Amino acid sequence: MSEQTRFILNESDLPKQWYNVLADSPVPPAPVLNPQTLEPITPEFLSVLFPMELIMQEISTDRYIDIPEEVREMYKLWRPTPLIRARRLEKALGTPAHIYYKYEGASPSGSHKPNTAVAQAFYNKAAGVKAMTTETGAGQWGSALAMACNFFDLDLEVYMVKVSYGLKPYRRIMMESFGAKVFPSPTDATNYGRSVLEENPDSPGSLGIAISEAVEVAAMSNGAKKYGLGSVLNHVLTHQSVIGEEALKQMDMADEYPDVVIGCVGGGSNFAGIAYPFLRENLKNGQRTRLLAVEPTATPSLTKGEYAFDYGDTAKMAPVVKMHTLGHGFVPPTIHAGGLRYHGMAPSLSALFDAGLVDAVSVHQKTTFDAALQFARTEGILAAPESAHAIRAAIDEALDAKAKDEKRVILFNLSGHGHFDLASYETYLAGELEDYAHPAEAIEKATEELPDIA
Ligand SMILES: *Cc1c(COP(=O)(O)O)cnc(C)c1O
Repeated sequence: MSEQTRFILNESDLPKQWYNVLADSPVPPAPVLNPQTLEPITPEFLSVLFPMELIMQEISTDRYIDIPEEVREMYKLWRPTPLIRARRLEKALGTPAHIYYKYEGASPSGSHKPNTAVAQAFYNKAAGVKAMTTETGAGQWGSALAMACNFFDLDLEVYMVKVSYGLKPYRRIMMESFGAKVFPSPTDATNYGRSVLEENPDSPGSLGIAISEAVEVAAMSNGAKKYGLGSVLNHVLTHQSVIGEEALKQMDMADEYPDVVIGCVGGGSNFAGIAYPFLRENLKNGQRTRLLAVEPTATPSLTKGEYAFDYGDTAKMAPVVKMHTLGHGFVPPTIHAGGLRYHGMAPSLSALFDAGLVDAVSVHQKTTFDAALQFARTEGILAAPESAHAIRAAIDEALDAKAKDEKRVILFNLSGHGHFDLASYETYLAGELEDYAHPAEAIEKATEELPDIA
């Protein structure tokens, strides 16, 4: 075991390939369906939205995919990211457990999202695309793609969930600084946005609605604009595998191996990024690491959702996939982890959870912020509210190890910093944060509208 606290890799240790879990998963996800016909989707349908190279990655079952040299060069701006042993937190908890975290907040936009954003922008540029469209909730994904599109000289339109647009001006300003155009969704510029506004002029928007608008704009552009998604899809999860590949090498430097690997889940990309390379070691090399996904009790797609075919967006324009879902009509409560409010979950992760190869737990907001504060006061990093869910679970593991007087090695992904989320911290510090559990009736109602697929 190493005496070090920070484990820093060299530039030459930056992975040369992404890892695709579909090569090893014993539970391949169900086919993706066309939202109009509910028949298996064709590459032609997808090619309206994505460049062919990303579509090939989406359906690929190759174990490794070469990372283009241009993308690796950009990764070098912030990768490899540090792995840090949380010694001061361990001490405060009085636990025999060892706690390590991989710090993805070290990227320029402050989260893991640039790992896929630069790859997506690269493949769009290479295919001759001039502009991209996307949605963003809290603004993490929009910021990452705005940076990436700026690097590759692509225009970007961002449909930002209206409540966040109003409440989080700083993320919007960051996107605009990179040259992106940002619109509060629902807008009156798309057919779908207009239909939502007709029904409810005061609609606060949702991620599902914003996705529908961004998809519509790309689909109607005659190939001039393509769409980018920041989570859920296989190719996105594959790009994030650099996190886990680096962490494997860093745990080796620390001369330890994790008993449990933890990540928060919205659509599943940062969790998959750190956990899938460890899953490969479980499946192929006899390791027995427990993989734990953490979600908010307010949006419990894995722990309370149904495993069923559902639309990826509210307007039923995005492909239908089999996943753990709260229903495409799900309107999430305004919790403080905006990045964890999507109604569904990555199909590969849903299948692995269903098969018992991945565990999940849900945690409440207040206890999550308690953990974030304890982490900030011991380790010095003010985490994103999303990442704080992983911190909560890591602390709970460490306390459980203490109760059982067990040495346990815990690794979690600190997916981002919370420097744009200070309003949430303010609410918490003022004692005004409220817990919210998604009522079972609401899930039942939303899942009644799932597409009928035999
Ligand atoms: C977007 C985001 C998440 C949630 O998305 P996943 O695809 O589940 O990773 C988590 N943490 C941060 C910091 C984010 O920006």
